[in-house]
Amino acid sequence: MKHLPEKILIAGMDYKIIQCKRSDFDEDGRIAEIDCMNLEIKILKTLALPVKWGSLLHEVTHAVSVNADIKLTESQVVALGNGLYQVLIDNDLMKI
Ligand SMILES: [Zn+2]
Repeated sequence: MKHLPEKILIAGMDYKIIQCKRSDFDEDGRIAEIDCMNLEIKILKTLALPVKWGSLLHEVTHAVSVNADIKLTESQVVALGNGLYQVLIDNDLMKI
């Protein structure tokens, strides 16, 4: 499985991927978060790589929801993010 990239293009905008420590998150207990205003995605750097990718896809789903103005709920984002991750894994699309 590849390491996370330093940036990802979502709907024509480059989001910077920042691997950071727990104290860098806006809310306690988070392992990932997205800032659509500043085009940043934070991922907890100590996570196992598959969890990092799952978290990244979750945050990407949030960005897609915001850009499409479809107002997905958190549980819908969880379901879609997990579903996308599973398709990528099951089809070996996450390999180097
Ligand atoms: Zn979320």
